Amino acid sequence: MEKRCILCGRKFVVENMCETCADDDLFTTEPKKSVSVCELCRKKLKHEADKSQKPTKPVG
Ligand SMILES: [Zn+2]
Repeated sequence: MEKRCILCGRKFVVENMCETCADDDLFTTEPKKSVSVCELCRKKLKHEADKSQKPTKPVG
């Protein structure tokens, strides 16, 4: 089915819905909530989350 990315507005095709609601607890606040984010933006989000997870405070 075709979905539209909520971030970049691009249309993308998802073959199975489960893929979008699998492990997207990054920005999914509610359970069983399918988000429409294309792969590109998802990668971006993951990257951002990865970055923010690291301590940015200077040690010492
Ligand atoms: Zn996108």
